[in-house]
Amino acid sequence: MRINCESCGSRLTIRTSREITKTTRELYCSCSNAEQCGATYSYTVSRNNIITPPRGKLVSIVVDFINNLPDKERSDLIHKLSR
Ligand SMILES: [Zn+2]
Repeated sequence: MRINCESCGSRLTIRTSREITKTTRELYCSCSNAEQCGATYSYTVSRNNIITPPRGKLVSIVVDFINNLPDKERSDLIHKLSR
């Protein structure tokens, strides 16, 4: 991942990061143009979607997804699957 300084356009270096949630991290970055700019930033990076589920985890992902549906949608889906 490459992020450029919004002030001078130089490449940012990720100095450290911390976990906010299992799928979100906060990155602390500094401008590589230290002498003329020296800006520092924090960014929040989050995973949006699982594009390809990890092997062997598909069933648990589907079960979690179904369990997080509203009650009516979950019961409708279970009804459709049982036909
Ligand atoms: Zn800069």
